[in-house]
Amino acid sequence: MSVQSPIQTPTGGGPVMAIFAHPDDPEFVAGGALALWSEAGRQLVYVICTDGSKGSSDPNISPPDLIAMRQEEQRGAARHLGCEEVVFLPYPDAMLEPTLALRRDLAREIRRYKPAVVVCFDPTAYWVGDNYIQHPDHRASGEAALAAVFPAARDRLTFPELLAEGLEPHNVDEVYMAAANAPNCWIDIGGVIERKIAAMRLHKSQVRNWDGMAEMLRGMSRQAGEPQGLEYAETYRYINMRR
Ligand SMILES: [Zn+2]
Repeated sequence: MSVQSPIQTPTGGGPVMAIFAHPDDPEFVAGGALALWSEAGRQLVYVICTDGSKGSSDPNISPPDLIAMRQEEQRGAARHLGCEEVVFLPYPDAMLEPTLALRRDLAREIRRYKPAVVVCFDPTAYWVGDNYIQHPDHRASGEAALAAVFPAARDRLTFPELLAEGLEPHNVDEVYMAAANAPNCWIDIGGVIERKIAAMRLHKSQVRNWDGMAEMLRGMSRQAGEPQGLEYAETYRYINMRR
């Protein structure tokens, strides 16, 4: 099933849930689309699977301090894109696996917030383009997110402990997978590219060179938009489960 036009325009509707591995992933790969959805009136919810405890080369910072700092940065960056709700799961950074426990934890959040759209990493991408090896946490978070969307969040009898918590089954309508090597969907982020960059800048512990980071994001977005004649775009592998 292919999309009618590869260029998608976000519209109003149900909540959008961004499920990613680390603090800063949502802004980096999906900040443009998230900003557009938020502007269109959709509620945004982030679920960050790991504690971000490995994301520093500073020998003087302790993991608990780093975890607290990165969560605070993530809340600020999310707020900048219009997201007030950030759920942090406690899985250790750099150790994420697509386990049944992670699947259940994500199904729990899907049943709790009832998103119409889930945005996550493409779990099939072991590398992206010709200069980036995909972080194994990214693949693991994407695999667990897809399995949580279908069938775990939908099936009444899967993870009965969720029903016991009062969480009824929920069907997600659409999935957008970021950092995909075979995208079928382009989102024009020309109007929000600076907002995306500004949100990334709020991850202060992760960015050493502001200007270099901004140029990299502009360059990536320009390259992503080229095949569709867009100045700046984000690309996704898109699945519509309502059809
Ligand atoms: Zn990451």
